[in-house]
Amino acid sequence: MTTGNFPRCNCASGALLQGVELAPGLPALQCPACDGSVLKLDDYRSWQPAPAAVTQPPHVPEIEDRPSARSCPACGRLMQRHRVGSSPDFRVDHCAPCQLVWLDRGEWPALAQAGLAGRLAEILTERWQRRLQNDEIRQQREAALRGKHGDACLDELARIRTWLAEQPHRDELIALLRTGW
Ligand SMILES: [Zn+2]
Repeated sequence: MTTGNFPRCNCASGALLQGVELAPGLPALQCPACDGSVLKLDDYRSWQPAPAAVTQPPHVPEIEDRPSARSCPACGRLMQRHRVGSSPDFRVDHCAPCQLVWLDRGEWPALAQAGLAGRLAEILTERWQRRLQNDEIRQQREAALRGKHGDACLDELARIRTWLAEQPHRDELIALLRTGW
């Protein structure tokens, strides 16, 4: 990565970005003041994660995700935010025209810890974001059902569903459940 295009961080410090390795063989630029890093997607795509890089790092610092959108350190346009998981405050910022990702302090180690270091490109897709939304809708529906029917009932239903799904004659069994025999 060339440092010439965006030598300074756009955090309050305006510090010079410095070359680092997020993982062995994965170069990035890091701000010594806010600890955020800029990752070039070209570098990421050509990186082959060693098995050790995608297992849990020993220490994961607190994520310091900024609440508002960040402007791209290269072109100045607002970066797109992509949620990584169900936690609303773990989002990576992406500039599609510049093919850059901004990672706030702690976000790379958190990705690695979640086993997602090798899946950053996927996280940036519509599909990933849609799946997160669907998961969330399902969780809300389940919470509402648990509120209405109680945990014991829902747990039992889940157990029966799982069991039914494994039965070769499940439709017949469901019919028997409804109508008896
Ligand atoms: Zn940009």
